[in-house]
Amino acid sequence: MIYLLPEIYQMRKNIRSPRRDLDRLRLNLLQKQIRNIYENVPFYRETFQRLNIVPDDFKTLNDLQKLPIITKEDIRNNGKKFFNEKINLKKCFHSFSSGSTGEPFKSYFDLKTWIRKKYLSKLRARFFCGMKPGEKIVILGAQSIETFERTNSKWYFQSLLPMVLFISIFEDIEEVFSKVNTFKPQNMYGPPSFFLKLAQIAEKKKVNCFYLKKIFTSSEYLEKSVAEYIRSAFQVEMYDIYGSVEFKEVAWECQNHNGYHINEDEVICEILMENKPVCEGELGNIVLTDLRNIAHPLIRYQIKDTGVLIKKKCDCGCSFSLMMPSGGRSTDYIQLPDGMRLTAYQLEDSIERIKGIIQYQIVQTNEKLIIVNIICRNFQNDTTSVQITKNLNVITKGLMQVKVRFQDSIAAEENGKFKTVKNCIKTPKSINSESRLPILRENQ
Ligand SMILES: [Zn+2]
Repeated sequence: MIYLLPEIYQMRKNIRSPRRDLDRLRLNLLQKQIRNIYENVPFYRETFQRLNIVPDDFKTLNDLQKLPIITKEDIRNNGKKFFNEKINLKKCFHSFSSGSTGEPFKSYFDLKTWIRKKYLSKLRARFFCGMKPGEKIVILGAQSIETFERTNSKWYFQSLLPMVLFISIFEDIEEVFSKVNTFKPQNMYGPPSFFLKLAQIAEKKKVNCFYLKKIFTSSEYLEKSVAEYIRSAFQVEMYDIYGSVEFKEVAWECQNHNGYHINEDEVICEILMENKPVCEGELGNIVLTDLRNIAHPLIRYQIKDTGVLIKKKCDCGCSFSLMMPSGGRSTDYIQLPDGMRLTAYQLEDSIERIKGIIQYQIVQTNEKLIIVNIICRNFQNDTTSVQITKNLNVITKGLMQVKVRFQDSIAAEENGKFKTVKNCIKTPKSINSESRLPILRENQ
């Protein structure tokens, strides 16, 4: 624990560092990581030889572009070549993704990186958003009920760290609500679709969760209407977080909600279209480079999410640059009969302008049919249905039939995650320039 103190001190400093110091640190970390992959990771050693480059060629952050972009398929096709050959993976920590794109994946982390990513950088962001030491937090996760019961009974650090209660999202919702009400946390962390269910129960039971101050959401696209509903039901501040199994938390919202601050002392985040950086505000594929993980380093990894970079400065005091994840994965899209694809970004934008919707889900069930499941404030509101059909007719150029179904609740996927856009007929691909859509959302 003591050897972590300099790390904690440095992490706290980084978040408010002057830009020049931060860039110097990032270059330093990148050069260290480049040496690590060249010396210890067979895939990259071969890549360096093939491209006839050496670590000394990486003199600026832009030199990262000398390396190719990799995908999950590259990792799967190259087996152990992506692991550090000098590290015993049995002594590493790992995370397992159930594969929201149908591609299961296991990521390994060395101990120091695991502690940084799993605990320290998360706590840093939560404290920056105003969580106070000694406050209670409930963490809602997709682990099984039994796993979390074991975790709760082993949570030795409760007196040192904020009081934590882990609850599985697979537990009965009424049971969860009752546990939360007994524990009375000031903070909660979990997927937005689960908070929506809790908010509906609180409204139904007319329970005032006065103790709750902040809700941190992650793992799913936060529909604007869902956020509004949760915020007004619990009277809380809400902060969304963008992350992945391979990199843990990548970026997070501060109180200004200008975008998501990238953890720039952990990752380099590029936003690219056909391997070239996009202009500010333009949608592209998110490509991440891990600056810390030496056991299973992923460099220029295309994560199959899309987003935009934001150049605007935030006056919250955080030095980290801003980005905005666009919502669904790049694999979440609707395929039109003429071959054009509509991204989750385009679809969400056309639905979120309509008033009265609490939650929605757009599902393509066959080549010419889109079903829109919605939960509405006024059940069976015909105007809402007409408006949805009209908006989708515009962006689908009238090529798809649209059916609107009013629901009491919309089910999450088997892995516990809620999908806003679901395509039941296509195989996953990343977006290309044909599906490029302009500029930022309305609320920016
Ligand atoms: Zn900020």
